[in-house]
Amino acid sequence: MGWLGQTHWRILFALGLGLIWGVVATFVGLSGFTRDWITPFGTIFLRLLLLIAVPLVLASLVTGVASLANLQKLSRIGGKTIAIYLGTTLVALVIGLVVVNFVEPGASIPESLRMSLQEEYQGDVAQRQETADQMERGPLQPLVDMVPDNIFNAASNNRAMLSVVFTALLLGVALMLLPREQAQPLLSLFESINAAIIKIVEIILIVAPVGVFALIAGTITSVAGDNPSDVAQLLGALGLYCVCVLVGLAIHAFLTYPILLRTLTPITPFRFLRGAAPAQLVAFSTSSSAATLPVSMETAEHNLGVSEEVGSFVLPLGATINMDGTAVYMSVAAVFIAQTLGIPLDLAAQATIVFTALLASIGTAAVPSAGIVMLVIVLEAIGVPVAGIALIFGVDRILDMCRTMTNVTGDITVSAVVAASEGQLTATSMNGLAASSAGAAAGSGS
Ligand code: ASP
Repeated sequence: MGWLGQTHWRILFALGLGLIWGVVATFVGLSGFTRDWITPFGTIFLRLLLLIAVPLVLASLVTGVASLANLQKLSRIGGKTIAIYLGTTLVALVIGLVVVNFVEPGASIPESLRMSLQEEYQGDVAQRQETADQMERGPLQPLVDMVPDNIFNAASNNRAMLSVVFTALLLGVALMLLPREQAQPLLSLFESINAAIIKIVEIILIVAPVGVFALIAGTITSVAGDNPSDVAQLLGALGLYCVCVLVGLAIHAFLTYPILLRTLTPITPFRFLRGAAPAQLVAFSTSSSAATLPVSMETAEHNLGVSEEVGSFVLPLGATINMDGTAVYMSVAAVFIAQTLGIPLDLAAQATIVFTALLASIGTAAVPSAGIVMLVIVLEAIGVPVAGIALIFGVDRILDMCRTMTNVTGDITVSAVVAASEGQLTATSMNGLAASSAGAAAGSGS
């Protein structure tokens, strides 16, 4: 897989080029050209990735669960995975709250700007039917939504990935419990689908740089239009809020995850970064954990040595329920909006943010902008007007890119931790493990 080692450099190069193109196009008035002739290639790339997301989640989870030999092993690995996912998300929420309470970005927004921002984005908020829908939903609605009443409906909707995960887990357990000869035909079919999809991922990754270039160029020009000064003013006003989200994400990505890796796996954080970079870059450019899932699985297994058994179970689950970046973002955004609207939040309100944002982040679909929709649940719970979301609409895209990158980094980190605890982290040229040290990690948690 030498070519994959190079992939992140090619994607990084494309990302830089897309950035430069986006900025130049904005200044020389080529936004229209970019929208008509470049953005479609980014959309095609995103569609290709999303095209395989549902079958991949289904096939890899069904085969992943069924291959776990028995219910005991499933509950051990499953329990461990979910516990670490919840633990890291809680840490992420606390980090977000500490940063936003310390910096108080909302206090610095001038009254006049606040009014104009609200007016400007009020329409956007009202147009979002989904946002309105969320207002009538209780905090446990994500749990209810997880159980589909029609698998074909669920499978035809990338936003309903949690229901696909639920169905796949159920089917996997059923196949595990059936006599081998009865389960085998269906298992072989899913194994074959799985292998075919992994092949498709390899093909898509060859053209990833083109897709990433187009996505980034398209994003910059659509945010900036042909009037960069508007963007500058908006970004300036909301800059401190963005900085808080980014600082929170950075603390989580560069402190929490490395601590987990250092204490629970033999992979050094630097090696991890090198191995996980292709997935992180695809996450940044697509803003979708679901779209990135195929690449996360490829990099975790081939670059970091996570076994297929662990990777095919932990990563699809993580792409759907583990959203640490989204959690950081939700806690900062909720407090920021309350601050700008002058609503004080006591300790109980902050605890409510932790609880509801934990559930909301689990229920957040792994697609672009899903987090801002789910933020409504958190705002409702603490009694902050939902229209306040209008304040942060303008800068959401860039933050979505960064939080998705953190979401995916968290999934891959946890897959390495679980693999190490199960003795299923093998040596690869990129993770730098001596073959024996992989074994040394074995059994530590099993
Ligand atoms: N775009 C994010 C993801 O796919 C979800 C979010 O909007 O926070 O991971």
